[in-house]
Amino acid sequence: MTKAVVAGVEIDTRHWIGGERVASATTFEDVSPLDGTVIAEVSRGGQAEVDAAVAAAKAAFPAWAALPVAERSAILLKVAEGIEAHIEDLAQVETRDNGSLLRSHRRGVMPRVAMNIRFFAEYAMTELGHPDFDTRGHRNHVSWDPAGVTAIVTPWNAPLMLATWRIGPALAAGNTVVAKPPEWAPLTASLFADIAHEAGLPAGVFNVVQGLGTEAGAPLVAHPDVRRVCFTGSVPTSIKIGESAARNVTPVSFELGGKSPLLVFDDADLDLAVDLAVEQFDNSGQVCLAAVRLLVQDGIYDEFRTRFLERAAQVTQGDSREESSDIGPLVSRTHFERVDGFVKRAVADGAQVILGGEPNHELNNATGGFFYKPTVFEGVDSSMEITCQEVFGPVLTLQRFSTEEDGVRMANDTEFGLAATLVTGSQERAERVSSRLRAGTVWINCFFVRDLSAPFGGSGRSGIGREGGIWSFDFYCDVKNSVFAPKGWN
Ligand code: NAD
Repeated sequence: MTKAVVAGVEIDTRHWIGGERVASATTFEDVSPLDGTVIAEVSRGGQAEVDAAVAAAKAAFPAWAALPVAERSAILLKVAEGIEAHIEDLAQVETRDNGSLLRSHRRGVMPRVAMNIRFFAEYAMTELGHPDFDTRGHRNHVSWDPAGVTAIVTPWNAPLMLATWRIGPALAAGNTVVAKPPEWAPLTASLFADIAHEAGLPAGVFNVVQGLGTEAGAPLVAHPDVRRVCFTGSVPTSIKIGESAARNVTPVSFELGGKSPLLVFDDADLDLAVDLAVEQFDNSGQVCLAAVRLLVQDGIYDEFRTRFLERAAQVTQGDSREESSDIGPLVSRTHFERVDGFVKRAVADGAQVILGGEPNHELNNATGGFFYKPTVFEGVDSSMEITCQEVFGPVLTLQRFSTEEDGVRMANDTEFGLAATLVTGSQERAERVSSRLRAGTVWINCFFVRDLSAPFGGSGRSGIGREGGIWSFDFYCDVKNSVFAPKGWN
């Protein structure tokens, strides 16, 4: 099978290699978590398809890299316009594919997908210069040379947003790309290939190889002609990818998991703190940045607990296409069982369930989907799996702390370091605490506010490197310094 119709949108389910659709001998099933039905049979790539895609990207690289930045950017701006023209289709397909909210896709995620391309196209035109500087009469000239073929391997929780966050700067820098979309939600990557093609992106500049991680992802990241590896996903996979990339001395950019804290101090605006805590159930907790460890100071703990539980109980779980739904299902049966395993082991470890703690049987029976109730644990400590490991589901823990010192210590008591959020009425405390938190992003009295020019990434086991603005170009380019002697000219 080479096509699927999902939410009324026709999708080519073959790979996109060198400007052509290419089928594999076998396919894999793409299942919708809304009702457990197979919505597409997708070409299942391996070494041969990876070799072909990398060869196509390598062949396309010299001409794409040699284009003046303004010409590359002009094409990428057309790609961004193409995305904007297809927001509804992309939103409908992504919702059906990974179960995330349609309204979020329409209003936030898909416009941001377009922005991922537009921002870096514009940034490359205006910001990539560096003034020449002088060293003992010698002139230093810095240039940002594109690195070459870039492998982009991405997860399913925000498939097209996370892919384009890497594709945008990679292409704007002059690199060519081979993308390996997630097997649990591969469809919007294929639609993106069509949009980019229609916008005039030359053949071979962007390629998609679909398939399983071990079959298609592994040969891609190990390929000797790949000059950059971008990976967004889990820590165990990153270790394998790092080992492969190291054999070719290929630089990696890793955006990995988290176990981020939400610190609520006694002097916090309680309404705001409760709002921010409830927001952590968004996308059924399948958000790398989610502040899943709620750490609340003694003086405000009881009131926070009461109000938070009241609000959390009102979170509406349902079909992600309905405006009334706040959260949808988990992405797959496998992931659903994984989340349930975490919850069961937490109970066995002695954690107390104060909300949820089980699948949404009623909804699952009615729909065939993979819904899990918003869940909160109390009575946990840092020795338990539930406070240490990333669950990636709608599962939060609630703990109290007494002094600021304690709060900071508990917030930092994790192997991860992706993000931290703190709620306080004191600016001095905000400055003091944020400077002591180990995290790539710290939000103070807000959450999820992101500017594409700001650095983004994780400390500890949450990742390697930063992207956003100039940090992206630093990664996607082989930055070169040419030193001109003052003499020797004819
Ligand atoms: P995953 O590591 O299982 O898979 C991610 C991608 O890697 C998929 O495309 C998969 O096919 C591929 N893959 C798997 N094994 C591979 C291998 N051996 N070689 C090459 N590729 C391989 O992760 P997931 O379950 O899809 O995603 C969830 C994880 O992603 C969570 O840990 C989450 O925190 C993380 N994440 C991080 C960010 C961030 O920006 N830091 C954003 C979103 C998700």
